[in-house]
This record gives sequence, structure tokens and C-alpha cells, in this order.
Amino acid sequence: MQEKEENQKENKEMEKIVSLCKRRGFVFAGSEIYGGLAGTYDYGHFGVALKNNIKQSWWKKFVDNRRDMYGIDAAILMNARVWEATGHVANFTDPTEDGKQFNVMFKTQVGAGEEAATSYLRPETAQGIFVNFKNTVDSFHPKLPFGIAQIGKAFRNEIAPRDFIFRVREFEQMEIEYFIRSTDWEKYFEYWRGEILDWTEEVGIDMGKVHELEVEDGDRAHYSKRTIDFEFDFPFGKKELLGLAYRTDFDLKNHKLEYIDEEIGEKTVPHVIEPSIGVDRILLALLASAYCEDEKGGEVRAYLKFKPSIAPVICAVSPLLKNKNELVEYANTKVFAPLKAEFGRVIWDDNGNIGKRYRRQDEIGTPFCIVVDFDTLTDDTVTVRDRDTGEQERIKVENLKKYIQEKI
Ligand code: ATP
Repeated sequence: MQEKEENQKENKEMEKIVSLCKRRGFVFAGSEIYGGLAGTYDYGHFGVALKNNIKQSWWKKFVDNRRDMYGIDAAILMNARVWEATGHVANFTDPTEDGKQFNVMFKTQVGAGEEAATSYLRPETAQGIFVNFKNTVDSFHPKLPFGIAQIGKAFRNEIAPRDFIFRVREFEQMEIEYFIRSTDWEKYFEYWRGEILDWTEEVGIDMGKVHELEVEDGDRAHYSKRTIDFEFDFPFGKKELLGLAYRTDFDLKNHKLEYIDEEIGEKTVPHVIEPSIGVDRILLALLASAYCEDEKGGEVRAYLKFKPSIAPVICAVSPLLKNKNELVEYANTKVFAPLKAEFGRVIWDDNGNIGKRYRRQDEIGTPFCIVVDFDTLTDDTVTVRDRDTGEQERIKVENLKKYIQEKI
């Protein structure tokens, strides 16, 4: 009985998140006006903004802020021999309901007529990294250990796509292949475990809901000698959020790639630690971490408690009344324009009364709402309202940039 009630509560929460995503322009069902296409979703204005912030934060931490990481943006279509060499053509399968093994790679044709070659949409971004190993080494001459990082789309013909953007057929991955000497693998596995946890906390995932699962021998992917699945308590249950795998030298060996280790003066095949993160799952975990409800003025309000650094919008600017020219003029030229130029993620909102605007911005997860009223015209102060507490402060217009900067 208690379990049933728990399930109902969880389903309700998921329904609320899905409907908020649609209402506020985060995520829409793919091809919706033609009845949809299972396992596909489209991201609207605020969804793209959130996704970009997630990707930028990852890229900054793992590429820009490091000296040992190289970026790549490889083609989605690759020579079919890549997937033969890695064992994906033979092994990248899921069991169907009646137990037949089904390969989840999307097969396609490249070119016309008899010249056409079979190709696959990549089911992981990792191989785009491995096949560019030699190019990267030849261009940049990195010393071990070093990594190659990529963000991009991956495609899997999932037998049963489900749970909103959790299990989809087209998704985005952020992957790193970190090349090391084989003897160092345990050290770097631990190191990446820490780095990944730091990043998930930084973006605002509720760490109380993150659990590590040591994947047993028979359950690991065919290339992995050790894997930890980092799971998250989604509203529909505890499920994989991201993975950390020790892929050994499996991929480089299969592609017949080598490296000259100048320090020991030998040809070797480096081993690999791979943190692999699904952007869409992070976005969903962020929505689930941020979704809150409380009571304001006798009404239930829903809000997304995003960190200001990751929120799709940092602040919304409103004139108290949209038909008073002097308020609109002031709000536009002295508040909105300079903040927009400084922070980019700033929106103008003059729709409906102030209460409605606050509710709307709460649902978008906007940390600050700034209102220009009649007092502003005489004392150059505005109201800044905090999303989480609902409290309002009067702030001098000239101090707004600094005030927001400090909050971020
Ligand atoms: P699952 O067991 O849930 O199918 P997986 O173990 O096959 O996932 P990996 O191959 O390790 O997943 O892929 C790395 C990451 O890519 C996953 O941790 C997840 O974040 C993301 N991912 C994988 N498949 C999907 C999918 N169908 N939809 C959305 N994200 C996905």
C-alpha cells in the first residue's frame, strides 16, 4: 500500500516536470504535430539554454581549464569498418521481448545506387575520439597521460524508449578518453571518479540522490574491465545517470593504433579511462533536483531552484505597468539593455500582472526578478525579488551588475 502511494507520488512529480517543460518551452515531444516519433524530443528556447550551460560548464572544467586535454568534433557518420573493428556490429545488442538479440545501431546508406555503402549513425561519441588518436598525437605531440574530449550526438535504436528524455533514440554525450600507461589505471580511475562527482555537484545535481554501482563481471560492456555506473534517484526510480569505465587498450588495439612513449623510448598502446555522460540525462536529473513546490499567498507555487550559473535565465526585467511609457523607457534603457549586454541570459517580461510574472519566472527557474516602479524614477532604485525566498530588496540601479555578479 505504502509502495503504491510512493509510486503515485513519483509519477505525479514526473508528470509535473514534463508538463512544466512543455508549458515553459524547455522540451517538446519530437515531430509533435505529426503524432510524434517515439524516443525523440525537441528542445525549446529555455531547454537549449540549459543544455548549453551544462555543456559549457563541462567543457570549461575538463578542456579549457586543463593543459592535458584536446577537443575533437568528429563526424557522426563513420566508415562501417570502425564498428566492425570495435565489435559493435557483432555485440551492440539488446534482447527483444522474445529473447532475439537486436542490434541497436541505426543502419543507413551513404551515396547513391550501386556505389552506396552501409554506414551507421554512431551509437557513442567515443569512436570519433579513438579514430582521431593518431591525428591528435601527430598534431599536438602530447605526453601521457592526456585526454581527448568530445560533445556530440549519439543514436541508439532503443527497443523501448521511455521516461521522457531519459531513454531516447537520439541523445547527446560528453565523453573523455583519458590515455594512460596500463600500470596507472587504478590511480586514474579513482582520479576521474572524483572529478566527475565534483562536476555533477558543481552544476547542481542533488548529490544525496547520486549512488555508485560497481558493475559486475557479466554485466559490463564487452570492452570494459571495470565500470562504475553513477545512478540517480529519478522520479521513476534509481537509474544510470552516467558511467565511468576502464576500457583498457581494447579500442586502440582494435584500430591498430600505437603511441611512441618517449619517456621510456618504446612503442606502446595506451590504456584508457572513460567518463561518459549523457547530456539529456544530466538535464533531467537537474530538473528533478531543482523542482520544488511551496505555498505563496495561499497558493501552491512550483519553481526550479537552479544555480544562477546554470539557470537558463539569470534575471528578468519588468516595468511595473507596461502602459506607462516612463517606466518602460527607464526599464528598457537603464536596466534591461546594460544587464543584457553584461550577462546575455536576461529577459524582458511585461506580460500580465507582477504576481503572474513572478510565477512564470519561478517555473523557468529565474533566480532574480527586477521591477522598475514609480519610486525608481525619483531614487534610481529597483526591486530585486529572490526566487527561492520570495523576499524583495531595493537595490541602486548602478549597483545591479555587481549585485548579480556576486550572486553568480
Ligand atoms: P543504459 O544501461 O541506461 O542503457 P548504457 O550503460 O547503455 O545505459 P552507456 O553506453 O554507458 O549507457 O552510455 C554512456 C551514457 O550515455 C549513459 O550513462 C547515459 O548518460 C547516456 N545514454 C546512453 N543511452 C542513452 C539513451 N538511450 N538516452 C539518453 N541517454 C543515454
